[in-house]
Amino acid sequence: MADKKNYYDILGVSKTASQDEIKSAYRKLAKQYHPDFHPGDKAAAEKFKEINEANAVLSDEGKRKQYDFELDHPGMGSGNPFGGQGGGFGGGFGGFEDIINSVFGGGFGGGGATRGPARGADIEQTINLSFLDAIKGCSKEIRYMRNEPCAACKGTGAKGGTSFSKCTRCGGSGKVKFQQDTLFGRTIQVGACPDCGGTGKKIIDKCPDCKGRGYVRRETAFLVNIPAGVDKDSSLRKRGFGQASGNGGESGDLYVYFRIEPHKLLQREDKDLFVTVPISYKTAVSGGKISVPGIDDTLELNIPEGTPSGTRFCIRGKGVRTVNGTGNLYVTVEIDIPSRLSRDQIKKLSEFEDSVPLKSCSKMNKYSSDVSALYGKKLDKQ
Ligand SMILES: [Zn+2]
Ligand SMILES: [Zn+2]
Repeated sequence: MADKKNYYDILGVSKTASQDEIKSAYRKLAKQYHPDFHPGDKAAAEKFKEINEANAVLSDEGKRKQYDFELDHPGMGSGNPFGGQGGGFGGGFGGFEDIINSVFGGGFGGGGATRGPARGADIEQTINLSFLDAIKGCSKEIRYMRNEPCAACKGTGAKGGTSFSKCTRCGGSGKVKFQQDTLFGRTIQVGACPDCGGTGKKIIDKCPDCKGRGYVRRETAFLVNIPAGVDKDSSLRKRGFGQASGNGGESGDLYVYFRIEPHKLLQREDKDLFVTVPISYKTAVSGGKISVPGIDDTLELNIPEGTPSGTRFCIRGKGVRTVNGTGNLYVTVEIDIPSRLSRDQIKKLSEFEDSVPLKSCSKMNKYSSDVSALYGKKLDKQ
């Protein structure tokens, strides 16, 4: 379990800082650690993420109030949004959003087994993103049903969170020994006490709000900040937003996955973007400027004289921007052959073709001499 980060320390402001002080501290730090100025620097990227996280909470009075409350009541466990009693949007943010994927170089071990009451189950949710939303980053509302820890009993199921007695079966240790007879003799194993579920406690009076279950079924909704550059194999983890444990244990986590819609023109592979653009025969022959699709707008690309169909150009730095650097935009040009030309147009084209000597067409010229050498036939332009 990660220690609770102190957002005030991260921004270097006091707990009583005004909104203006928070804003100016955030701007200064965000500039200092912006990934554009520290390409490939993971520590700076992490710091930048932290600063944004701190600002997202402290710049919102409602979130800040709840954060202050959680900061003053560390015993409540991370991610259990107690106080979100109004339901719906009041959701907490005790959990942090972590990105786990290759582009972001994330990855971390699981929570690890802890003693005591069982942890709640994880929940998985998928968010649909447009191609450009995934590239540029966005915030999306997420709504799902879950077992939320009951606020009245702090998720324990006991009235007021205190109406307990010691479990008689395990004597309060939460563990019991099991005997098992096997081929090799009798073995003794230690496991969670079945009477108290490993808590060591027995409820005397059930919590009236949740009828002793320790959780209430309700819709959880909040805005997920999706950082720029997420991909189809990215995921976000929000600690403590999975199912409640039901007996006072830690809640599970929420994992958010992305389904990314295709773009009409662009294709993506990690940080790089790919597009095929049609050009005219004339542009291919004599060169010229063409417009190609970029992330925010079209970009100008210079086509040199004598560009064959299928040539690929690279526009550096116009791919996807991620904390680990920016990709390129690869443009493949394809000569578009006009169809349904008039007799007059075909005639003009023939006149033009006849005016071009075979030696001006280097590939055809070579082909012609190869055929001549191999088959003894003289080919003209074709
Ligand atoms: Zn017990
Ligand atoms: Zn309750």
